[in-house]
Amino acid sequence: MLQQTRVEVVRDYYRCWLRVFPTLRSLARAPLDRVLQLWEGLGYYHRARNLHRAAQMITRLPRTAAALRQLPGIGRYTAGAIASIAFDQPEPIVDGNIARVFHRLFPGQEPWSVAAALLPARAPGEFNQALMELGALVCLPRQPRCAVCPVRKLCAGPRPLPRRRVPLQPVTQSVLFAHRNGRVLLRQRPPTGLLAGLWELPPGRSHRELLTIRHTITNHRITLRVYAGSPPPGQGHWFTRRQLARLAMPAAHRRALNAALESDSPSRRTTSPARR
Ligand code: SF4
Repeated sequence: MLQQTRVEVVRDYYRCWLRVFPTLRSLARAPLDRVLQLWEGLGYYHRARNLHRAAQMITRLPRTAAALRQLPGIGRYTAGAIASIAFDQPEPIVDGNIARVFHRLFPGQEPWSVAAALLPARAPGEFNQALMELGALVCLPRQPRCAVCPVRKLCAGPRPLPRRRVPLQPVTQSVLFAHRNGRVLLRQRPPTGLLAGLWELPPGRSHRELLTIRHTITNHRITLRVYAGSPPPGQGHWFTRRQLARLAMPAAHRRALNAALESDSPSRRTTSPARR
């Protein structure tokens, strides 16, 4: 969950996830739709799919970083973190925070080599967690807290970081809100690729625009224009409100659906115009 996502964002998802899936077995047995639904709003849905598949592949958790890397979604960093923290194996880790600390402490040196050279044989997991915390809480990107830094005597001080910020990409989509006899029409995305398998409002537009939703996720700034109308027959499935609540949807489409249902409710129609 923490891949490219901040702890504050993950915290509630993590607690809810462990409540619903307290064991690997319970995750492995869950339908994919349920797994994706719990992930709704976190983005990078391949992580949820990989966790689900990995749980199905694992009967006993492998205890070496090399074996862990055979599982879907587990790369060098995650394998090192699990092996060192859970199994006390001497495996180095480098995340974005640790790379920044090393850049400041050992400028010009390759971070994985530094991590391997520093790693102690005793309590490597605690050492790795201390490094992560040092980067996340003390050696901050813009305003490092050097006065309280436990390694300040070894450090020449903050230095400018290489700029790698990815510019936000604007994405505009037009979608249809088809509402009939208490049911809404959605279509399912293809089983592979971006947001694979999630349900969404079908693409299309009409002369009646209902509302616009703006949503930023990872490096995309999404503008979703929602129109009233139906796509050509044969596309998608009709769902009741109760069924809609159980489907996994991209967060922007979920917000658009909720807002469209709200603006379409009888009381709303008689008291105020549709949101823009
Ligand atoms: S002294 Fe400052 S720049 Fe150096 S590692 Fe500590 S917090 Fe980072």
